[in-house]
Amino acid sequence: MPELPEVETTLRGISTHILNTSVTRVNIRNHRLRWPVSTELESQLTQQKIIALKRRAKYLLLVTHTGTVIIHLGMSGSLRVVAPQTPYDKHEHVEFCFANGKALRLKDPRRFGAVLWTLDPIETHPLLKHLGPEPLSDDFNAALLFNLSRHKKIAIKSFIMNSKIVVGIGNIYANEALFASGIHPNRAAGKISQKRYQQLCIEIKRILEQAILQGGTTLKDFVGGTGKPGYFKQELLVYGRKGLPCTKCQKPLKEIRLGNRSTVYCTNCQT
Ligand SMILES: [Zn+2]
Repeated sequence: MPELPEVETTLRGISTHILNTSVTRVNIRNHRLRWPVSTELESQLTQQKIIALKRRAKYLLLVTHTGTVIIHLGMSGSLRVVAPQTPYDKHEHVEFCFANGKALRLKDPRRFGAVLWTLDPIETHPLLKHLGPEPLSDDFNAALLFNLSRHKKIAIKSFIMNSKIVVGIGNIYANEALFASGIHPNRAAGKISQKRYQQLCIEIKRILEQAILQGGTTLKDFVGGTGKPGYFKQELLVYGRKGLPCTKCQKPLKEIRLGNRSTVYCTNCQT
């Protein structure tokens, strides 16, 4: 599943190709994504210039003077920039053609992705208005986590994966950040000190930034390639390493299910 770093890498990858260029055509080859793709999209977006590209949580936003296209990659989605005459892949469901001769295509085999069009201010959109702060912003800090978690019995891993608390911390990054900060994934969020939250915030930001940096080395793949940045080239210290030795103390890592997600941690290093 594309996580925040992959979405950020995608944003940077496509921005250079479609920013400040106008949409000449929208081809909706399959309306049946997570929500039906509106037929209004084509009439309302054609001739509009993309004046900004942004990311909010895992939503990509193509901003025009009238409205905004909201794209979510779902479970299996990817975007690539191609020449319009490029033959379609089987799962390329939506295509945006631009005045500069480039085309942006959404490929999504499992069709859990979304392409929506809204005329409302983006921060009021139902999908976005309840979201917590961006993890790489200054609004995401130890004081926030400490204050929101008081008297909460919820496991810290589930707490930081809740998008109302903070957006974009997927399962892989939650596992890695808790290991790096020495916090047991099942510890009650309300029982963690502000000092430990300080360390957790530092590690979350470091791990996400590192992943974005590594994604950035694959930007060329957005043109003519598969549209898939090299997500998993990143070195993971706990995720997917059940039973393998801890990189700090050599004790075999343990796996539990937490919120029905694979949770791997060191029983010795994480308390
Ligand atoms: Zn260990």
